[in-house]
Amino acid sequence: TKWVYTFGDGAAEGRAGDRNLLGGKGANLAEMCSLGLPVPPGFTITTEVCNAFYANGRTYPDGLQTELSEALNHIGRITGRVFGDPEKLLLVSVRSGARASMPGMMDTVLNLGLNDVTVEALAADSGDARFAYDSYRRFIQMYSDVVMGLEHEVFEEILQEEKARLGHELDTELSAAEWQEVIALYKAKVEEELGKPFPQDPKEQLWGAIGAVFSSWMNHRAITYRRLHDIPESWGTAVNVQAMVFGNMGDTSATGVAFTRNPSTGEKALYGEFLVNAQGEDVVAGIRTPQNITEAARVAAGSDRPSLQKLMPEAFASFTKISEQLEKHYRDMQDLEFTIERGKLWMLQTRSGKRTAKAALKIAVDMAAEGLITTDEAVTRIDPASLDQLLHPTIDPKAERHIIATGLPASPGAATGEIVFSSNEAEEMRAIGKKVILVRIETSPEDIHGMHAAEGILTTRGGMTSHAAVVARGMGKPCVSGAGSLRVDYKAGTLTAMGKTFHKGDVITIDGGNGQVLKGAVPMLQPELSGDFASIMEWADKIRRMKVRANAETPADARMARSFGAEGIGLCRTEHMFFEDDRILAMREMILADTENGRRAALAKLLPMQRSDFVELFEIMAGLPVTIRLLDPPLHEFLPKTDHEIAEVASAMGVSPDKLRQRTDLLHEFNPMLGHRGCRLAISYPEIAEMQARAIFEAAVEAGKQTGNPVVPEIMVPLVGLVKELDYVKASIDAVAKSVMEETGVKVEYLTGTMIELPRAAIRAHMIAETAEFFSFGTNDLTQTTFGISRDDAASFLETYRQKGIIDQDPFVSLDVEGVGELVRIGAEKGRSTRPSLKLGICGEHGGDPASIHFCEEVGLDYVSCSPFRVPIARLAAAQAAV
Ligand code: ADP
Ligand code: MG
Ligand code: MG
Repeated sequence: TKWVYTFGDGAAEGRAGDRNLLGGKGANLAEMCSLGLPVPPGFTITTEVCNAFYANGRTYPDGLQTELSEALNHIGRITGRVFGDPEKLLLVSVRSGARASMPGMMDTVLNLGLNDVTVEALAADSGDARFAYDSYRRFIQMYSDVVMGLEHEVFEEILQEEKARLGHELDTELSAAEWQEVIALYKAKVEEELGKPFPQDPKEQLWGAIGAVFSSWMNHRAITYRRLHDIPESWGTAVNVQAMVFGNMGDTSATGVAFTRNPSTGEKALYGEFLVNAQGEDVVAGIRTPQNITEAARVAAGSDRPSLQKLMPEAFASFTKISEQLEKHYRDMQDLEFTIERGKLWMLQTRSGKRTAKAALKIAVDMAAEGLITTDEAVTRIDPASLDQLLHPTIDPKAERHIIATGLPASPGAATGEIVFSSNEAEEMRAIGKKVILVRIETSPEDIHGMHAAEGILTTRGGMTSHAAVVARGMGKPCVSGAGSLRVDYKAGTLTAMGKTFHKGDVITIDGGNGQVLKGAVPMLQPELSGDFASIMEWADKIRRMKVRANAETPADARMARSFGAEGIGLCRTEHMFFEDDRILAMREMILADTENGRRAALAKLLPMQRSDFVELFEIMAGLPVTIRLLDPPLHEFLPKTDHEIAEVASAMGVSPDKLRQRTDLLHEFNPMLGHRGCRLAISYPEIAEMQARAIFEAAVEAGKQTGNPVVPEIMVPLVGLVKELDYVKASIDAVAKSVMEETGVKVEYLTGTMIELPRAAIRAHMIAETAEFFSFGTNDLTQTTFGISRDDAASFLETYRQKGIIDQDPFVSLDVEGVGELVRIGAEKGRSTRPSLKLGICGEHGGDPASIHFCEEVGLDYVSCSPFRVPIARLAAAQAAV
């Protein structure tokens, strides 16, 4: 095995494609060298060394030592220097570099090779003693910190004291002699703290730094980062050793970072910052305020400090040229690091730059227009999940804001609602049609249902990665977290801010874009769906094969779904229509009636309401398919609970409250999720399904007349496990269809199908498809029934499972492709074997999850259906899956 790859002087042993072996930084340094760009020579120790290091009890593989000496000679030949030789001093940087950029890894060590002797040589060599001692003290600081584990602050303290004593403000004001004093103090401190002197042998320093990079792969920070970002441990990190160039060699030297386009707006303009007479991360460290690279940016920022363009025009010209070349070469916006040593430009890093969702869209669309990438590629450049940031209402910039607190902008979008302090309250209020903001000190997995029910979430504790923040982002709900100045008193039901107290039911607005909490309702702007967003969507729509529908039952949701490009409704949950005010009463009468006649009487009240719902929905969805699921949940969900509710229903039915209570007790179930629900209701009480079917067909006739463009209702029977269940229900649907068509004289096209949400249904799909004209995979229930876990109770142990590495992902968020997915695959194949024209779709949370959508494409489903806000995400993900 070859362990070390060299680069420098217009050539390299590696290439950009060798990312897995050389890490991102190393592969791109090699590529830049091959392009003939000015890159200080160096070499990369491969990720395979990292893996060998851990496989063999933290020892290095045979042959590494020899290869490394040769690689040092390679640098020496190009630079005319020798590592460790004070006569021809060669200093290096040691830089970590994994495949994916990883903030948890070891920090870079610069100026390695300096010691008490070589620092004199550097002073003589450069003719600048101040520079030499500045470099040495930086090295002691960095090396002691990252290799020997001595806190950075220890040195900062010494430096602060010295600066105070000497009357200096800035580091750049210290003289050579003063730096020498600082160095003496640093070294004494190292010896005092660690009981051994600072290492003077350059070889020892080098191996120390290399060992520190490899060891940092397993440090706590790195492990956590990998877990959060699904980076496998087996990837390992590479180590880059590279000849130093100096941005701190006086006023003709500088160091900086830049993006080839603006990473927040996407505007096509070089964007970056630099510092004169500085080194390494001074620019990002915030010790001195950096300057703008271009004149245009300087003017725009209103800065009176000169731009690089003005200060070092030649270096600027070559940098501009190189940045354009790199962008063309990589065909993507680049994030660049560079250093100028006495007027000469050196490139130290290039990589694809991180950008906001908005910038990503603009850059992709612009690059397609410039012919740099194809429109197909532009579509693949956008992370579907990132669209979430762009799809939410935002507060009108012109609106007045009464800010009561500011927390962290944990999940984008703005939301207004009444304050509630518990998840149960949130759900109850939602059930009666109220919009609420869930206010908690912090949230836990038990709050998922409340977060679902709320418009937005506000917490007083927790950061950007707190439970509330992570879950809210997953749900696409606005969230402000860690608003520490707010006091929540659960007992009193109050929220206190700046001496003002808010109660449950008071209206507030949160702005998840900037973390503000505002008093009252504030005017909102609807998301901007034109421009670059529209272009990408249009291109995506040309590529994708699968249709995208929405899960919606209210006219508002249906309209939003249409505006987001939904091509129909994939799931209309009729029970949601029964929770509203006067309906719940009729619904309760129906459930609690103990005779068929009683039920029919109550159903007769519900029919017109249900029909008018469907008319409105069908008008909005004119000409498109609408899948309507017959009543699904266990009946007791609708039961009256409080005495007041019981009295109300009792009087409406003309029975005594006691009798009613007996009847509700009878309906109690021990395990409702597996109880009397789904098609089991339609079989016990056929009149319910008949009423629903009648409402659907009558509405189809009426809406068809009004719009001239009838929908094709797809009537979906839930929770079917046996084909006979479906046969039974379908017979009554067909009978109702026939009579409505006879009564109205209008022919209605419709389909009858089922949800596949029980393992038995998937396994017997070839039988079910004898009757069903479509399948919709109800992957929420299918996940519950396949795993045998209840979604409402799983949160408490699934998180433990994740932490213990038993599962990687919550199967309710991203489809368990191996298990649940296998059932989907079986169901699809068997179903189509009986009925080749069988329409296949998926509803449930997974329909809006990009990874799950990829799977749906693979299995060849006809459409995915998801919540309205996720429709654009699904359109894009479906396109990417089809590329
Ligand atoms: P990170 O991965 O944190 O960006 P880098 O390895 O890129 O760390 O190093 C950080 C900075 O150190 C670079 O941006 C550059 O300014 C400086 N640096 C690294 N290697 C050298 C070098 N050989 N010569 C001069 N500066 C260097
Ligand atoms: Mg860093
Ligand atoms: Mg870097």
